[in-house]
Amino acid sequence: MCRHLGYVGPVVPVGDLVLRGPHSLRTQSWAPRDMRGGGTINADGFGVAWWVDGTVTRYRNADPIWTDPAVEEVLPQLTSHAVLAAVRSATVGMPLDRSACAPLLWDRWAFSHNGVIPQWRTVLTAVLSDLDVAATRAGLTRRYETSHLLEAEAQTDSAALWVLLRRLLDPEPPAGLAETPGTALRLLITTIVHHAPDARVNLLLGDGNALWATTCYHSLSALVTDDFAILASEPYDDDPRWQALPDRSLVHAEPGALHIESLEMAESTSTESLTR
Ligand code: GLN
Repeated sequence: MCRHLGYVGPVVPVGDLVLRGPHSLRTQSWAPRDMRGGGTINADGFGVAWWVDGTVTRYRNADPIWTDPAVEEVLPQLTSHAVLAAVRSATVGMPLDRSACAPLLWDRWAFSHNGVIPQWRTVLTAVLSDLDVAATRAGLTRRYETSHLLEAEAQTDSAALWVLLRRLLDPEPPAGLAETPGTALRLLITTIVHHAPDARVNLLLGDGNALWATTCYHSLSALVTDDFAILASEPYDDDPRWQALPDRSLVHAEPGALHIESLEMAESTSTESLTR
């Protein structure tokens, strides 16, 4: 279990998103409410990403978030219209290292994974093989090869997963395996779950303008108004507008719009959408 949070809206202090509310992300690091296995507290580091003029940057620390004075003394001095943050509970056997702390970055994207993929080396190798078969059948030039896993920043399921996802996100003209971030997430999750039905894969993805997420075992809530959109593992306050999102969902959120699709469906048909 890790806890993550994404925000898009008016410019705010970056530290505010980590400290906001009686049940802030920082509080969730030592007193999470909705634990669903795989850890007790989120003390294995944290990270915060934010966007300035279309460029994403981040701050990470492998120590518990409550030990880092930068959270109160530096992050509130920075401002952005979009933030993606996570506190980590390392899966047993995975390194306790700054490079393993989300958010992971590539291009304009920031990414976090809450969960675990059992036997991740075997499973993600099989997923790569499936993607490569699909790419070949579609006549695409981009390959999905085991060697790409060497690009992972850390020896964790999350970092390897990010290698696969960012390869799907990278646009390949005229058309790649996935046309949108949502279809990339759907393809990745359904292929992973095909090989590992007990995989826990709550993913959170942001590009500074919108958020995409999956729910697969762990909790996720949304607070979306005309002005801002927030997705968070746990609500940070008791605002009645928070909605708990159903398990096995693909979520797209931006100010004024929250779209929720079932991940069980073969095609990406919207089953529920809320547009304010
Ligand atoms: N498996 C990932 C890691 O170890 C995420 C862990 C989690 O969600 N608790 O970093």
